[in-house]
Amino acid sequence: MLPGDFLARYHRLRGDNVIYISGTDCHGAPVIRTGKIPTDVSEHYHEEFKKIFQDMSFSYDLYTKTSDNYHKDMVKKLLRIMLDKGYIKELKAPQTYCTHCKKLVFDREIEGECIFCGNKTKEEECDNCGHVPTEIKNAVCRACTNRTILVNAKNLYLMLSTLQPQLEDYVNRNKHNWRDFCIKQTQRDLKEGLKDRPITRDITWGIDVPYDGYENKSIFVWIEALLGYVTATQKFCDEHDLNWEDFWKENGRNKIYIVYGKDNISFHTIILPALLMSLDEDYHLPDTMVNSQYLMINSEKFSKTKNNIFALLAIKITFPL
Ligand SMILES: [Zn+2]
Ligand SMILES: [Zn+2]
Repeated sequence: MLPGDFLARYHRLRGDNVIYISGTDCHGAPVIRTGKIPTDVSEHYHEEFKKIFQDMSFSYDLYTKTSDNYHKDMVKKLLRIMLDKGYIKELKAPQTYCTHCKKLVFDREIEGECIFCGNKTKEEECDNCGHVPTEIKNAVCRACTNRTILVNAKNLYLMLSTLQPQLEDYVNRNKHNWRDFCIKQTQRDLKEGLKDRPITRDITWGIDVPYDGYENKSIFVWIEALLGYVTATQKFCDEHDLNWEDFWKENGRNKIYIVYGKDNISFHTIILPALLMSLDEDYHLPDTMVNSQYLMINSEKFSKTKNNIFALLAIKITFPL
């Protein structure tokens, strides 16, 4: 998180017009698996994160959360635009189904072998090779450990195959602002060819899908969380009498930094620009991807096994800024 704060402070000092935003991603599947009320769990962590950022004097203009009603409403509006423009379409295709749990299972709900590197992985993102596979081999449902089957099911899909040429252009234009490992993984994904991705899930913890017949589904968490960069800017601007388009629509002067952790590269370098392209409304695409590898301490990786980590909650940092 720190590079984002440095960048925001640097640009403010230069006299630039800066909005620095982020938020808690509340709709991840682990929240449901706690067995507690999902809203309570996500709210607990959101308050904890907010307190840490306050204690450390982070200079966010807005630190929000994806369970916020403003975010939910805006995401539905944005999705309607993508549907109207034809970049999101309903398709019927084979989906992983658990006959024991009697439901479609996705992402972290299934485990199996990565079709790219063969390692054991969850569908959401392979920890070993960083691929975000659209299918995995020998899949089992993690809830009941039974083998899953494939059934034909309807879902809304983001048409990444249509956007591939535009995405290649985008990456070539901006890659000089990205780090080596980030460029390599993105170029590898593009070279392998992008597949259209389902963006709806058969779970109720999430944002409702604004489409007839999808009453029991939610929008895939990663899709709406990424749109949070836009909706948080909109929310802040609404509340401060500013025009959000000055920050997100092309005007020849804007510059967007996206700052994130070690994983989730493809979501930020491919899916996020693809979503902005799908809106087809002259969005300025992110210029600089600032992502890190491992956190280091005394030249070693921060690691629970090595017991060299410390929890931020255990320290209270106060320093004059
Ligand atoms: Zn199951
Ligand atoms: Zn893999």
